[in-house]
Amino acid sequence: MSLSFDPSAVDLPIGHHIGGRFVASAAELPVCRPSDGVTQAGCPVGDADVVDQAVTAAKTALKASGWSRLRPRDRIKALHRWADLIQSEAAWLGRMESVVSTRPIGQSISGDVAITAEQIRFFAEFADKEGGTVAPTASDKLGMIESEPFGVVGAITPWNFPISMAGWKFGPALAAGNAVVLKPSEMTPFTAVALAELAVRAGLPDGLVNVVLGDGATTGTALTGHPGIAKVSFTGSTAAGAAIMANVARTGIKPMTLELGGKSPQVVFADADLDLAADCIARGILANAGQVCVAGSRVIVEASAFDGLAERLMSRFAAIAPGPTWDEASAYSPIISAKQLARIESIVRAAQERGAEIVTGGERLERPGTFFAPTLITGVSPDSPAVTEEIFGPVLTLQAFADEAEAIALADHPTYGLCAGVYTRDLSRAIRITRAIEAGTVWVNRYGRSADHILPTGGYKGSGLGKDLGRDAYRANRRTKSVLIDL
Ligand code: NAD
Repeated sequence: MSLSFDPSAVDLPIGHHIGGRFVASAAELPVCRPSDGVTQAGCPVGDADVVDQAVTAAKTALKASGWSRLRPRDRIKALHRWADLIQSEAAWLGRMESVVSTRPIGQSISGDVAITAEQIRFFAEFADKEGGTVAPTASDKLGMIESEPFGVVGAITPWNFPISMAGWKFGPALAAGNAVVLKPSEMTPFTAVALAELAVRAGLPDGLVNVVLGDGATTGTALTGHPGIAKVSFTGSTAAGAAIMANVARTGIKPMTLELGGKSPQVVFADADLDLAADCIARGILANAGQVCVAGSRVIVEASAFDGLAERLMSRFAAIAPGPTWDEASAYSPIISAKQLARIESIVRAAQERGAEIVTGGERLERPGTFFAPTLITGVSPDSPAVTEEIFGPVLTLQAFADEAEAIALADHPTYGLCAGVYTRDLSRAIRITRAIEAGTVWVNRYGRSADHILPTGGYKGSGLGKDLGRDAYRANRRTKSVLIDL
């Protein structure tokens, strides 16, 4: 059966989801289809009152349902029911995701929606495997280290992988016994609302999963500053992460997980399997048209392998299949907005003005929507914005190095440290480089997360604070209470 669909026939839920109910609301911000530029719908902007209603609903749900103190197996079963429903509604969710996001329908259904269900299952399973312990202390005392949820977690997600980013936030927070109020991006708000609807259908307590729609300035600020939010979990740009830290500092102290931007290097040694490296590098910059936090946008290659790698990359760049996200045959994504397309263009032009050579691409694709050609740039100066700034587009720079020390120096970024790739057949060298690079994740002879969810993800330096995924993400949604009893 074909997965292709008619975008204008997709019904989008324009409203918040609060206390287990869909709350239809006036659309205030246009929501565009990046594949053809048509405005398909609108996004409401929840104000402080709407946020307060959602936080109150979450608190009430925790109290009424006893979710935090529920037998862990019962929490696990409820979350598995939700994951099963997400999986069985994959076609519905995938269409809703693909119509206004940059995700081609095939990847939405078999990738993003499936990952979302799997993340919820993965985190659910921690609920009865992680917990408090008894502390070693004097024999006339009992020391306990209790582990407890925070209460209501305020989560904010970006537009680039709307449904799976929501899964990252919901999964660990709910499994750990919290309720959630989530604000998705105003550019791709709908699948989060659908997830809340499915949570109700799965029998999760009403109000445990709440979604408020709106922009960062109004709705996001109200959410992170709300006194009823006990923990903030954010994924988005470094600039917004800094604004959130400032807002939280102004309105009350609370823990934060921040998953932020990156400008990740991929270091290729001449002894590497260059075909493998080219496959990984092309995927690492062309997936979602480079609109991925972990995009490996700076290739640093040993001088003797420079030409061989460049040739291989060009043949892979030429093989892209752009098309509207609702066409099953499309495998190359549009850029999310005209504004972001213009920004990519301006960074490429700035690199050219500083003497860089555009080996391939460098311009928008002549077709409806906002598509940008896969772009390979050489001869970049180290201070070119193409090398220093997160572009969030399909733009790859290629820089040559002479020895390991130079490779490490080029790989280092003054402010970002999200992830990196290393390609070599020399295991000792791979370990040396891995240790020398300041990044939260380093992939060796591969690029990209595995589907296991067990490896924590999160950046060093300005790329973030704390971890999503893995055991760390579950633990980050609980806090520790020490109890000492004189017997
Ligand atoms: P963005 O920072 O513009 O917006 C992200 C979310 O934050 C949106 O929901 C937005 O409305 C909200 N927001 C913006 N300003 C806010 C504020 N002051 N207070 C509260 N909320 C606010 O980012 P984006 O353009 O949606 O996403 C792209 C960015 O996300 C890139 O920088 C990318 O690297 C990053 N990202 C990081 C990861 C990771 O795991 N590290 C994953 C995906 C995306």
